[in-house]
Amino acid sequence: MNLTGKSVVLAALLLLAAASTNSAELPTQPKATSPRLYVFDCGTLVYNRPEDYNLKREEVKDSNMGVTCYLVVHPKGLLLYDTGLNDRLAGRPLYENIVDGYGQIKFNTLGGQLADIGVTPAKIDYLVLSHYHWDHVGNAGDFAGSTWLVYKGDHDQMFGKEARAYPWFPQYSALEHSKTQLLSGDYDVFGDGTVVVLATPGHTEGHCSLLVRLRNTGPVVLSGDLYHYAEERDLKRLPEEERTKGTVESRLKIEELLRQTKGQLWIGHSMEFFRTARKSPAWYD
Ligand SMILES: [Zn+2]
Repeated sequence: MNLTGKSVVLAALLLLAAASTNSAELPTQPKATSPRLYVFDCGTLVYNRPEDYNLKREEVKDSNMGVTCYLVVHPKGLLLYDTGLNDRLAGRPLYENIVDGYGQIKFNTLGGQLADIGVTPAKIDYLVLSHYHWDHVGNAGDFAGSTWLVYKGDHDQMFGKEARAYPWFPQYSALEHSKTQLLSGDYDVFGDGTVVVLATPGHTEGHCSLLVRLRNTGPVVLSGDLYHYAEERDLKRLPEEERTKGTVESRLKIEELLRQTKGQLWIGHSMEFFRTARKSPAWYD
């Protein structure tokens, strides 16, 4: 190698060092003058028992379920709705990750997807969980520094004696010491009507949905597990055990809201929605 060759190698090494320094920096956190909504891939549930939701197999296009988390970037703060499957599942084989007959697949972490857009857990102002089931609270403990907006029914269940024995209790247990705001009824988070937590009890006692009014996309309702499959909505089916628990009334409330606002319903577990939704780092506004 001659001197010039050495210089080229040195220059290349320096460039590499500079590039790796740059790549270690968090991208700039998104700022928005009107609300933005980011959709994250928080895993997939491999599942073939739509009968649990009062649907025949032939009535459901895809019985698997996407697991979706959402970030709202509002000019006055950041709100995370649901935290999906636990990040430690990412890259693990399916047979290790079976809960209640559902296989859990995860390709990417929520933490990594947030970092991709410059957001660390410490920057999330508000945490909202649609409800306390394991496929929604898998990383909730990472957001214990946020203000947790929650209904009493779910809060009491999450820290009751029975829940402390859940295998996934450690995934959210840190929330017990979070700054917690107990909600009753619907709650307008930023006071301008653009981000509203909607009480939709039934699937669990404190189950909630989220209305986000976007400038270009229009109103969107993120409905947690009010529905699992789009076919439940089309064919008007619901799980037998939810018939008398509030789901019927909650669905009527949301359908009326959608009718009045000409809004869209986003069913987070619907594979069709999950596949076609524009994922972060892109966003809806
Ligand atoms: Zn779910």
